[in-house]
Amino acid sequence: MDYYGSIEAGGTKFVCAVADESLTILERISLPTTMPEETLANVFAFFDKYQLKALGVGSFGPIDVNEASKTYGYITSTPKVSWKNFNLLGALKERYNIPMAWTTDVNAAAYGEMKLGAGKHTQSCIYLTVGTGVGGGAVVNGQVLQGFSHPEMGHISLQRYPEDTLESACPYHENCVEGLAAGPALEKRTGIKGQLLPETHEVWEMEAYYLAQAIMNYTLVLSPEKIILGGGVMKQAQLLPKIRASFAKQLNNYVSLPDLEQYIVSCELKDNSGTLGCLLLAKAQA
Ligand code: ADP
Ligand code: ZN
Repeated sequence: MDYYGSIEAGGTKFVCAVADESLTILERISLPTTMPEETLANVFAFFDKYQLKALGVGSFGPIDVNEASKTYGYITSTPKVSWKNFNLLGALKERYNIPMAWTTDVNAAAYGEMKLGAGKHTQSCIYLTVGTGVGGGAVVNGQVLQGFSHPEMGHISLQRYPEDTLESACPYHENCVEGLAAGPALEKRTGIKGQLLPETHEVWEMEAYYLAQAIMNYTLVLSPEKIILGGGVMKQAQLLPKIRASFAKQLNNYVSLPDLEQYIVSCELKDNSGTLGCLLLAKAQA
């Protein structure tokens, strides 16, 4: 039997899984992200039981995905000090001499959704998670999008609502999507955690306006077949129709688009988009 491995490397947890060739998940484990050596010892203990054919890794970042770079495979400028400039892919390769796919957590999720979830039957999509941060991944012509580096869609600049004076929740940018619209920005704006905000709260209009503006910009640059939304904040069901309405208003009929109910959609694989994406990427490497 051929086994494929998946690692979703996150800032709070590492989710590891092993699947067979039909991508049926045989075993999965969630390990807390502590120090790199300790976390990896647990990762190895999990995978050592299997003869893997290939491994797919979707990591928190920023990460170095440029194969020509000396630090290819490293996690680069994370605020998690012990993981900064850590050669994650190198440590995995030292342990397992097998093909490995290496990309961002959100690129992996975009790939999983494109193949098996909300983007099925498309060749290009964007996956955007709105949670503690905002992160976006893209698949273009069936391949995850990365070049000199990888997309950082959560940090593009937005035009503010005229009356919005919130101090950005992103330490790097005064007007980025993450700083204005991630979960911590919602909480800063209202004094209430996102999950406790009533669905009728006025903040959802502004939230929809910012996310729609970001989606408009992604649309104008990449023209994907679908925009797929996930993450904790998107659990607010009233948000999606508001985003579609604001998107239509801001785009102002400039380009023709598919039916918005089919174009801007929720993710379908829930907690599995990253894992399945990594497994599919692993299989594509083998
Ligand atoms: P992470 O981004 O850390 O992987 P989540 O996607 O769950 O995890 O994002 C957590 C953020 O989303 C927090 O800021 C939290 O307040 C917010 N959040 C979680 N659930 C909801 C919800 N139902 N409605 C609005 N905001 C939520
Ligand atoms: Zn930012």
